[in-house]
Amino acid sequence: MKRLVVLGSGESGVGAAVLGKKEGFEVFVSDKGNIKEKYKNVLKNSEIDWEEGMHSEVKILNADLVVKSPGIPDKVPMIKKLVELGISVISEIEFASLYTDATLIGITGSNGKTTTTMLTNHILKSEGLNVGMAGNIGDSFAQMVAEQTKDFYVLEISSFQLDGIKKFAPNIAIITNITPDHLDRYDYKFENYIASKFRIAMNQTEKDYLIYDADDEVIEDWLKKHPIKSKLIPFSVQKELGYGAFLKEDKIIINLDKQHLEMATDTLALEGKHNTKNAMAASTVAQLLKIRKATIRESLENFQGASHRLENVLKIQNVQYINDSKATNVNATFYALDSMKTPTVWIVGGQDKGNDYLSLMPLVREKVKAIVCLGLDNAKIIEVFGGVVDFIVETTSMADAVKISKEVAEKGDTVLLSPACASFDLFTNYEDRGNQFKEAVQKL
Ligand code: ADP
Repeated sequence: MKRLVVLGSGESGVGAAVLGKKEGFEVFVSDKGNIKEKYKNVLKNSEIDWEEGMHSEVKILNADLVVKSPGIPDKVPMIKKLVELGISVISEIEFASLYTDATLIGITGSNGKTTTTMLTNHILKSEGLNVGMAGNIGDSFAQMVAEQTKDFYVLEISSFQLDGIKKFAPNIAIITNITPDHLDRYDYKFENYIASKFRIAMNQTEKDYLIYDADDEVIEDWLKKHPIKSKLIPFSVQKELGYGAFLKEDKIIINLDKQHLEMATDTLALEGKHNTKNAMAASTVAQLLKIRKATIRESLENFQGASHRLENVLKIQNVQYINDSKATNVNATFYALDSMKTPTVWIVGGQDKGNDYLSLMPLVREKVKAIVCLGLDNAKIIEVFGGVVDFIVETTSMADAVKISKEVAEKGDTVLLSPACASFDLFTNYEDRGNQFKEAVQKL
């Protein structure tokens, strides 16, 4: 019997363990931290052996195959040892893909993964297809493969998960965009991070598709230098491409070899240029799968956006409060500010990831009337925007940030939480930050 060792016991690790057991492996799960109660129960029910609080070499280095959690960097000594011994270390996405023949749609990028994944899943579901949505977005792909048979999987895939693939080849891949993020895991080299994102296409063949943002110079440059086997389908909100997805007179046009679709942009449920791009990517997938045009149009019209992404919270005294807590980098905030239609009180700040705020300057000049800094260290934000926006204050409490915003906002304005930073200095995570914002707004 082959031995599968799973390192890390999160959603994906436990899913991989369950699938491994089903496929006849002797499975062992090892977690250096604590294993959550709910996962312990899953492991117990599946009669899978595990340890927590340590990684025991004797139980790990005898593996035939290792599935590693995306949270564990390749540099840690245990992984190095496994690689030196010639033991294959893969990600859960790779492992699960070995046990399904379904059509795979893999979605990666720096921003817009979750939204595009949900949109794509929503269209496929609305057409009545047997589809599973998994990966970085929440549910484990492996667990789903172990428990159900789906015809389609829509997978949100992070760069860390792509680092652990060997053969994984989605039939349709999307790269939403590439901007610097997570560089600490890539030796602080942007090139390495770009290469990691493009791994989504590395095993694709001429029969497969790669849908990508043609307005993104990083992607365009990379494609010029690195030939890719799959068929390329670009989307753009800036250029009238002819082939692919593009805008013409307030309409989204999707023009492929055999399919042609037109949709008015003002009927889309999600606002903002970035969401037009996400809609283009998702509907291109739908067109490739020959989903009916009416289904695509209706799905985009009635789609309920994900929480914490430009989420309309409440309108109080004609001031609109918007929660964009998921904007944990500058690019996401760029699109949030870009889609603001009225003078904006902007709540920004948190844990800086080496941010360069200059790209926001034109939008801040045009749209922002006041800045409320909500972070432990706001020096950079104050330095960049101090001379541009008259009102700029600091606080470390969400309740105060919202109260101050209410005081400066006038009828018709918008209060936007779009931090451009990680949340860990003051909050547990971005959900906690967004929820605290919503609670504070509700209390006003
Ligand atoms: P991800 O899963 O890649 O983090 P999300 O869909 O959760 O992406 O969105 C994260 C943040 O980025 C949100 O603030 C959202 O408004 C913004 N965003 C969504 N789509 C895009 C896009 N295509 N380009 C830039 N920013 C985007």
